[in-house]
Amino acid sequence: MTPHLSAAPPELEGKIVTPVDPRYLLLRSTHTGVAEPALVLLPESTTEVVAALRFARDRDLPVTVRSGGHGVSGHATHDGGVVIDLSALNRVEVLDRRKRLVRVQAGARWAAVGQSLAPYGLAIGSDDHGDLGVGGLATGGGIGWLVRDYGLTIDRIRAADVVLADGTIARADAEHDPDMLWAVRGAGAGVGIVVEFEIEAMEVCDVGYVQIAVEIKRDGRALRQWADHMASATRGLTTTVSVQSCGSALVASITAVVAGTDRHHLRAAVEPLLLIGTRLLDLNVRLTPYHALLATPHLYPGSGQQAGATTNGLLRAMTDDDATAIMAAATMPQQPSIQLRSVGGAVNDVPAGATAYPHRHQDTLVIASVFPPRRGAELDAVWQPLAGRSDGAYGGFESRPGPDAFARIYPGATGQRVTRLWNRYDPDGVFRRKEPGRGRG
Ligand SMILES: Cc1cc2nc3c(=O)[nH]c(=O)nc-3n(C[C@H](O)[C@H](O)[C@H](O)COP(=O)(O)OP(=O)(O)OC[C@H]3O[C@@H](n4cnc5c(N)ncnc54)[C@H](O)[C@@H]3O)c2cc1C
Repeated sequence: MTPHLSAAPPELEGKIVTPVDPRYLLLRSTHTGVAEPALVLLPESTTEVVAALRFARDRDLPVTVRSGGHGVSGHATHDGGVVIDLSALNRVEVLDRRKRLVRVQAGARWAAVGQSLAPYGLAIGSDDHGDLGVGGLATGGGIGWLVRDYGLTIDRIRAADVVLADGTIARADAEHDPDMLWAVRGAGAGVGIVVEFEIEAMEVCDVGYVQIAVEIKRDGRALRQWADHMASATRGLTTTVSVQSCGSALVASITAVVAGTDRHHLRAAVEPLLLIGTRLLDLNVRLTPYHALLATPHLYPGSGQQAGATTNGLLRAMTDDDATAIMAAATMPQQPSIQLRSVGGAVNDVPAGATAYPHRHQDTLVIASVFPPRRGAELDAVWQPLAGRSDGAYGGFESRPGPDAFARIYPGATGQRVTRLWNRYDPDGVFRRKEPGRGRG
């Protein structure tokens, strides 16, 4: 039922989308979740975010926050509640070129951030998919194409402006509220609505982009070769590996990004990757502007098009048994997608207690997904060989948040501090009362 709108604040005029509004069909769902919210609110400024939040709270409607709508849990929409959609808050501004300080609003997509910063010779390490929103990624982590050189996106956040559950606007930085800054950097979704971030960018223009396909065996040796190379490789090299069955053969698709354009450096970083596996099947090498890796062609409205179930785990150093377990998962009959991402490097320069992302000694992230009609039970079966092997998890690739996921994402003292701070900034749990969209695993 559509809530009573007669007392809507004037600043939200034209920005309240009900189910009978023609815009509703394009706004009700996300990339990963389909739902029927009662309303979608489209604020265009911080004061309008405050008005939107008050509007929902005054009517006792559950609230969910959406930036880019690519959260894998699909929780940026929900049946019967209010979605505060920040897509109109999408400005990107260089505040100080010398200090490389950039202000980005939460509703911007990373493709647009990349394009806006390219003329300045700057980039913010973010993700591999330009369609993701700034808000969800920069409150959770941010494992991008330059992660081993740049660190996580949250590692470079210097300040954030946040609308709290009671409608106050707070500034989180080292001087004003270091606790809030700590929580925003990794556990921001439970703090409030982060409207904008100040982030230190890095100097980067062109990068080397290499795609390699190799045939591999089931024994896990290829994954060990990859992990061994990454353990000693320059930080300028960041890679991902996807394992696919191709008939009776197994193929590893390796994507490598090398910061800079020095050909000697590129060759030294990438050549050992060509020796992985039993046979080189394909190789593509090019130099490209960094922002071109965050392509825009897939900027489309969310319609639940990627409604899978996803989980992940971090590994400290890959053992033979880890590699065997990953290969066992990858070859399961559920046909999962298994992806490995190199982390480490600059990520591990940050002390474990400095942000709400405490995983600072691991080198590899393993991500497993299954897609409809397969759901959570099938994902559990796929993950079974890896359960118990991993050391922590990343919230960005977990589609089923809950106590078990929380304990892996925020282990030990980090979890206690996250809970304490969420309760301090949002005592009524406004931002934790989430109903999943339909179609989740
Ligand atoms: C196809 C795909 C590729 C991905 N690739 C990467 C990758 O390369 N690297 C990586 O690190 N992650 C990656 N992810 C995971 C991604 O980081 C998270 O899903 C992230 O939450 C997406 O941000 P969003 O703004 O689009 O999400 P949304 O769906 O808009 O939001 C997700 C959740 O974040 C919270 N949130 C959103 N905006 C705000 C805000 N402004 N203030 C406070 N809380 C907020 C809310 O709780 C919301 O439910 C990928 C996900 C997908 C689906």
